[in-house]
Amino acid sequence: MEITRRRAVGKSLNFLAGGFLGTKLAVPVYASCVDNLGNVCDRKIRVHIKAVEDSLLPTDSLIKAAQEVFGPAGFNVEVGSQESLNRPELRDIAVNGELEGGVTPDQEALFKNRNNVGPNEMAIYIVNSLVPATLRGVASYPDGKPGAIIVSGGLPYILPHEIGHVMGLGHAQASDQVMFVGPHTILPPIFKANEIDKMKTSSLALSC
Ligand SMILES: [Zn+2]
Repeated sequence: MEITRRRAVGKSLNFLAGGFLGTKLAVPVYASCVDNLGNVCDRKIRVHIKAVEDSLLPTDSLIKAAQEVFGPAGFNVEVGSQESLNRPELRDIAVNGELEGGVTPDQEALFKNRNNVGPNEMAIYIVNSLVPATLRGVASYPDGKPGAIIVSGGLPYILPHEIGHVMGLGHAQASDQVMFVGPHTILPPIFKANEIDKMKTSSLALSC
C-alpha cells in the first residue's frame, strides 16, 4: 500500500516535470511583469534617458506615452536611468535622415554617452533640435550603440515610434499605427500582431 502511494506521487511529479517544467525548459523563459500602468507584460525594453541639458529632461508624460503603447503589446518600457549630460554643445544635432544615410559626427559624439546602459539596452537622447528641423525623432545609431534621439517638446508618441524602429520595425501604412509617419488618428496608436512578433525577435526584447 505504501509503495503504491509513493509510485503514484512519483508519477504525478513526472507528469508535472514533462508537461510543465519540461516545456518551459525547451524554450526561453519569459516570466510576466507589470508596468507602471498595470499592463501585464512578458518582455521588457530597458531605456536610459539622457537629456543634453537639465532643461530638456523629459516629463513623466513622455515615458507614459511609451508605456501606453508598448504595455498592451506585452512590453514593459522600463526606465533604467535618467540623467542630464550637461553638454550644451550637443543641443542641436545634424543628422542624415530618420533611418537612412548612416550616422553623422554629431550622432557619434552624442551616442558616446552611454553611462549605465547595459548590453541589449537602449539610450534615448533628448535634444533641443535636429537638423533638418522637419525631423522630431531619429532612430539611426552607431554600430553596437542602440538608441534614438527625440526633440524636446515634440509629440509624445514620437518616442514609442522611434523605439519601434530601434526594435527593428519599418513604417506602417495605417494612421492608427504607432509606426505611421503622419499624425495618428487614434490615440494611443497601436502595434499590429506582426509588428509585435517581429519586435520579440529583437535582442533588445528582454525577459522580464
Ligand atoms: Zn519613423
